[in-house]
Amino acid sequence: MADELPPLEAEIRRRIAIAGPMSVGQYMTLCLTHPQHGYYMTRDPFGAAGDFTTAPEISQMFGELLGLWAASVWLQMDSPENVRLVELGPGRGSMMLDALRAVQVVAGFRKAVVVHMVEISPVLEQRQRQALTGVDVPVGWHRTLDEVPEGPLIILANEFFDALPVQQAVMCADGWHERVVKVGDDGKLQFSNARDPIPLFEQMLPATVRDAPIGAIFEWRADQTALELGRRIVRANGAALVIDYGHTRSAIGDTLQAVGTHDFADPLLSPGLVDLTAHVDFQALAQAAESMGARTHGPIEQSVLLRRLGIGDRAHALKMAAPHKSAEIDAALARLISEEATGMGRLFKAIGLSYPRLGPLPGF
Ligand code: SAH
Repeated sequence: MADELPPLEAEIRRRIAIAGPMSVGQYMTLCLTHPQHGYYMTRDPFGAAGDFTTAPEISQMFGELLGLWAASVWLQMDSPENVRLVELGPGRGSMMLDALRAVQVVAGFRKAVVVHMVEISPVLEQRQRQALTGVDVPVGWHRTLDEVPEGPLIILANEFFDALPVQQAVMCADGWHERVVKVGDDGKLQFSNARDPIPLFEQMLPATVRDAPIGAIFEWRADQTALELGRRIVRANGAALVIDYGHTRSAIGDTLQAVGTHDFADPLLSPGLVDLTAHVDFQALAQAAESMGARTHGPIEQSVLLRRLGIGDRAHALKMAAPHKSAEIDAALARLISEEATGMGRLFKAIGLSYPRLGPLPGF
């Protein structure tokens, strides 16, 4: 049977047969970034023909405003002669392209900037290289933030942290057990709980989550990027703007979700063929950066940030320049700042992080 399975599912079953049930975190890591069969490693998932659409793909305004955000933060930082503009998980490269075009108005910043793209997927790196052909600032690629050279930096990340694997634990009568993926009696992949409780888990939980009822699920990320981000912006002076969907305070809940061709799917069906994400816990993200000495700004809703950064004026200017595109621009604007319960403007949050002496960041 294993021969007929999609390759990543066969690999996951092989590992479970050898080592026993695997953690949700390990499952998610394999699904997204297995070197040959991981979701991001093999495809360009964005756009109308892909699985999902992100803010930079909806409108150029998003990247432009973030570029101007970075330029004004650079001015606040006393305009260091060299600054790394780092993007984590740059997708198709659209956001950086739009950002660099917009910052042409701040000549000093353009001169100071070296762009560093942090991208794990060779396919998307190629896509980004194509997108940025012809930009007149130096651009380099890295697999992790650690690889970016030390020095003053400004970090941008849109829909990056949701793609990092989460671990899950389930509250049971005898304490918290790690949630795992196993092969069920019916031969299908299914969720289960590890046999033994996780020692001392309760003590690591945020206070708001400690009295969770039986059956509650808590998620956390073991990934070190938030710590590294905090360390870097404190050590060499810098700031970061992280935008993603998630909750402002740590909370219980299973937010692991699979999306394929613009629709929700079962996270255990088709491993490697659909996108897997989980909400970002902004409190945990802030605490990780603060533990390295960083200062937190926000989080605030995306709609609030984009309005304060002037998305209304930008949309107006674009419509004046191209009246035949007015309806399209208005639709994109409405989508980015929609405050309906399921609207992007509301679901997505923005958090700023900086070295302690840096004053209020633009938009916060
Ligand atoms: N920021 C883009 C893409 C978001 S999708 C946008 O808004 O359109 C997530 C991006 O992060 C993809 O480029 C994906 O390949 C990359 N990625 C996922 N996991 C990663 C990891 N562990 N390290 C570096 N990049 C990663």
